[in-house]
Amino acid sequence: MSADNAVDADRSAGAPRRGLRRIDLLRLGRAALLGPSGRDRVPDAIEHLTKVHRARHPEAGPEAIETLRRAYVLAESSHRGQMRKSGEPYITHPLAVTLILAELGAETTTLTASLLHDTVEDTEVTLDQVREEFGQEVSYLVDGVTKLEKVDYGAAAEPETFRKMLVATGNDVRVMSIKLADRLHNMRTLGVMRPEKQVRIAKVTRDVLIPLAERLGVQALKTELEDLVFAILHPEEHARTRAMIAANAAGPDLLAAVAEDLRKVLREADIAAEVAIRPRHAVSVHRVLLKRGGAELGSCDFGRLLVVVAEDADCYAVLGELHTCFTPVIAEFKDFIAAPKFNLYQSLHTAVADERGRIAEVLVRTRRMHRVAEAGVIALGDPHAVEETPQAAEAELGATAAETWGRVDPTQPGWLARLLEWQRDAPDPDTFWSALRDDLAQDREITVFATESGESIGTMRLAAGASCVDAAYAVHGEAGHQCVGARVNGRLAPLGTRLRDGDTLQLLMDDSATSGPDADWLEHAITPAARIAITRWLTQNPATAGEDKPASAPAVRPAHAAGQARAAEPVAVTDLPHATVRLARCCTPVPPDGVTGFVIRGGTVAVHRVECPSTARMVTAGRAPVPVRWRDDSPANGFRATVLAEALSRPRLLADLTEAIAAQGVGIVSAAVEPPQEHRVRHTYTVELPDPQALAVLMRAMRSVPGVYDVYRARLAVTAAQP
Ligand code: MN
Repeated sequence: MSADNAVDADRSAGAPRRGLRRIDLLRLGRAALLGPSGRDRVPDAIEHLTKVHRARHPEAGPEAIETLRRAYVLAESSHRGQMRKSGEPYITHPLAVTLILAELGAETTTLTASLLHDTVEDTEVTLDQVREEFGQEVSYLVDGVTKLEKVDYGAAAEPETFRKMLVATGNDVRVMSIKLADRLHNMRTLGVMRPEKQVRIAKVTRDVLIPLAERLGVQALKTELEDLVFAILHPEEHARTRAMIAANAAGPDLLAAVAEDLRKVLREADIAAEVAIRPRHAVSVHRVLLKRGGAELGSCDFGRLLVVVAEDADCYAVLGELHTCFTPVIAEFKDFIAAPKFNLYQSLHTAVADERGRIAEVLVRTRRMHRVAEAGVIALGDPHAVEETPQAAEAELGATAAETWGRVDPTQPGWLARLLEWQRDAPDPDTFWSALRDDLAQDREITVFATESGESIGTMRLAAGASCVDAAYAVHGEAGHQCVGARVNGRLAPLGTRLRDGDTLQLLMDDSATSGPDADWLEHAITPAARIAITRWLTQNPATAGEDKPASAPAVRPAHAAGQARAAEPVAVTDLPHATVRLARCCTPVPPDGVTGFVIRGGTVAVHRVECPSTARMVTAGRAPVPVRWRDDSPANGFRATVLAEALSRPRLLADLTEAIAAQGVGIVSAAVEPPQEHRVRHTYTVELPDPQALAVLMRAMRSVPGVYDVYRARLAVTAAQP
């Protein structure tokens, strides 16, 4: 879902913003033809640019504007006489690229370099001249873009060259920002190229530039690039999707009705918020269509609601109202505020159904989060200024995540820092190149909550499909070799267990171990960091690789065994010989509940709580109860229980309750919230307990959440939202 996670600004369906840009560019083109109109004043061609820049950066003073003017004058005079394929003067290109970056909030140095980005490659201007006139930083950025240009337009991206490029630009992601804006403008104007060239450029954009935009969090560029690529590589499907969007736009707008309901709810709750409809871009609509297996889309599928508020706390207040006044689709709830994605994206995601059952997806975020969602690293401003105050950067990200999961450096967001580490570790360019391609192909991520002795210690983002082995290397780097076991959602699990979104994970490490990975770890590892580390270890330790190593890695096997034993052995026993025993799902008994059993199909004995209505029904029906008792040596985990909480509806209730549950080290299997009645709400949670004693402690903790007036076990069969 992550590829589709952030707001899909609809740039391609004729949304006003893109229309405006086109007009701006036409005006820029005309102004550029006229050339700079005076020595001291800002040339007409960049007047709009400086206006946009100052709106985003009010602190940009006259000297910043003067720098931009000088950069424009140098670029315009050196490109003079050059034409683009479209027949326009060449200067329209660097101007358009710079305007794209200015709209995204890039700082002055980036804009200066962007105006000059093609001068060294295509004109008499030298890098030394740029350095003399604009300083080391600008020349460094221009040099980086020039090098990247050569990579992209070469016949094939040679692994070794690409590796060098990454190292070169890895020092500063602003080079990539300029490259992305450059590619966007070239893609917008691709129509003048030969069709086969269009296809070749579109494919590189799809394989390299779009994943980069995703990783850098530059959603606004990513969505427009996606639609432009879609139109070139899949013209028929693109046309069909556009026709569907147009047909939907002509019909009644049901999403607008939901938006209006939501505005009313938020007004009544006295929460200041802007509620807007974000139309999905064509690729996003196409994805929804594929997800539905081609079933017809409803009006609500063509867009999402975006709620923008002032403060972080307001986001949860909005969520509380959403989840109490509408029916939430709990499976769709994601908290990217508590657990930001590694491209820095933050928002709450949820989906709600109104009384007519129409499901609308909703994104909730602050204004600052919105800027980061749209512009990613570009919105972070001057990376060097941030670097001087690392505390501020960490405060923005949430200190826990920053401390636990590594460095926070806006010039090198997490994945890029990792990439540079792999490239140092990779034995040869081909390994690195294929690892990188695999990594870029992972466009879905999951969030895993890390725990240590029941305490939450942070979150991590992993590629979908990652296992405990991947997590071990993501957290511990090389020391991942010493991972000997893992608890997933409180229970011991094999290291090959695939982690799922929202899992809690405790890694069991053995510092003393001189052991290393098993060869079968490679089957479990999908992330490049883990695969490279394991492969290297196995190459360096050929004697032990692939054999059983009871002496060197003893704890791995008990961990596997315990994980399997729990499933196979009954936790309760009966005196009936050879009978299989299983816990009833309706009342989810947990030791030391009073229990009784009934023989069901196939001779299995179902264990119910004594007070379960099923027990009464069976007895009334004349079924003979079978005595059952808990085993003294019951495994300590894996019990499920369904718990109901009744509370007065208030903002943040759901967040507080789920937090209280997680704080007890208890995993939530499913959750459901009933619509409020007279300000009272009922939440139903099916949880998995780390041990039977945890239930009483959990219920006490839930009762202490403000607004909760009753917490009790389910007596009736509860239909779980998911198995
Ligand atoms: Mn260019």
